[in-house]
Amino acid sequence: MGIRLLSGMQPTGMLHLGNYEGALKNWVELQNSGKYEMFCCIVDWHSLTSEAEDTSDLINKVYDLAADYIAAGLDPEKTTIFVQSSVKQHAELHLLLSMITPLGWLYRVPTYKEKGEALGLDNYGFLGYPVLQAADILVYRAEVVPVGKDQSPHIEITREIARRFNFLYGDTLPEPQALFTKFAMIPGTDGRKMSKSYGNHICMGDTPEIKTQKLRSMFTDPLKIHKNDPGHPEECPVFLLHQIYNPAFQDIYEPCRSGSENWGCVKCKKLIAEIITNHFMEFRKKREELLADKAQLNKILKAGAEKACAVAEETMTRVRKAMKLFS
Ligand code: SF4
Repeated sequence: MGIRLLSGMQPTGMLHLGNYEGALKNWVELQNSGKYEMFCCIVDWHSLTSEAEDTSDLINKVYDLAADYIAAGLDPEKTTIFVQSSVKQHAELHLLLSMITPLGWLYRVPTYKEKGEALGLDNYGFLGYPVLQAADILVYRAEVVPVGKDQSPHIEITREIARRFNFLYGDTLPEPQALFTKFAMIPGTDGRKMSKSYGNHICMGDTPEIKTQKLRSMFTDPLKIHKNDPGHPEECPVFLLHQIYNPAFQDIYEPCRSGSENWGCVKCKKLIAEIITNHFMEFRKKREELLADKAQLNKILKAGAEKACAVAEETMTRVRKAMKLFS
């Protein structure tokens, strides 16, 4: 069956290049390695920690993410793709784990303070977010969770919660390991890390026109004002994109450095826009086809939820028994 792996993303609309290069691309590689039993979740309940007051578009965002997953290469035949809220056992385990998780553990999760202050979040669900995340992982008895190095505290708290459960009720929930995957930092149009919250993102599903428009507005080396000013490619976010998407990126290094009359930022950005547009052409086509057939997407998500429910219920039977609950 392979090593059981759980991963997930919040449905927040179309995925951007940073989401793809930093996570989804790795998941597709892990799937294709054949070594893992993959569960990929669309964690819609998590998105409520910040968006519970307006859920009018949530279902569309779920479809968007499902289409992004599949168009990027996750294959429903090989990977169980499902929506968190379709598997109620996540909520049950979350409630039970919340009873044994000390508040101090939650207050010290770095994102609680950072994100809470930045977004003004102070709801109960937001504080308990890591417990829900632990339930998401533990309900599948996942052995590994692919993460970037900055997310390791989330896995650590899941491991701590599992340890505490096992200490109190006997060995029931295996401690998952973080699977550190290679991570490419994708710059957004303002040169900072690409993120929806900065509004500097380019979505994989954006039309060629929108991609081009966003890339045209991208920050470059601030010292290269005129075409013939010598540039500093190593400090230019556009060059970083060339390094990722343009196999011939070295060909633009020298013309930029030397301030060649033939090579300015306008031309350089036009080229990367063409390359990125072509790179995601097939993806866009597949994504649009998927979104045009919601019945088929529903079928995929329902089948995924059935598989996920079967595993999750097996875990919950063990959990209820270990806790000696009435069932
Ligand atoms: S020519 Fe290209 S690499 Fe050089 S500063 Fe302009 S956008 Fe950046």
